[in-house]
Amino acid sequence: MISFDLKCENDHKFESWFQSGDAFDRLVKAKQVICPICGNNKITKALMAPAVSRTKKNNNKNSSIATNALDYMNAMRTIRRQVEENSDYVGSQFAEEARKIHYGETDERNIFGEATKEEAEALKDEGIECERIPWVPDHDA
Ligand SMILES: [Zn+2]
Repeated sequence: MISFDLKCENDHKFESWFQSGDAFDRLVKAKQVICPICGNNKITKALMAPAVSRTKKNNNKNSSIATNALDYMNAMRTIRRQVEENSDYVGSQFAEEARKIHYGETDERNIFGEATKEEAEALKDEGIECERIPWVPDHDA
């Protein structure tokens, strides 16, 4: 299970639990995620951005990944913009900051930054959800 901070078109923020990041993507696409405040179904992640683990477990989906590469890049760009707009950049302090937030040692806020695979795993072990986001370039090269 994974929880996301979500935001509707009218900027209402709410939290929802999903079976996985993929399940979230599917439900949003099917417009089955609905804002509890206004019923809007244009939902985006408000991004609490501690890292998301995006390990591809399924290697048989190469063909569909290829056809959807452009969509995927666009989606990743949107996420990147949202992260940049809504989160504090903490750089390599990411793991430390995520911990401080988790343990209430600092103000709760959205952060993003760099974490190594080991750091992300250690955070996960401590029950700190974080998501790793493929950081795509803003524009096509
Ligand atoms: Zn709403």
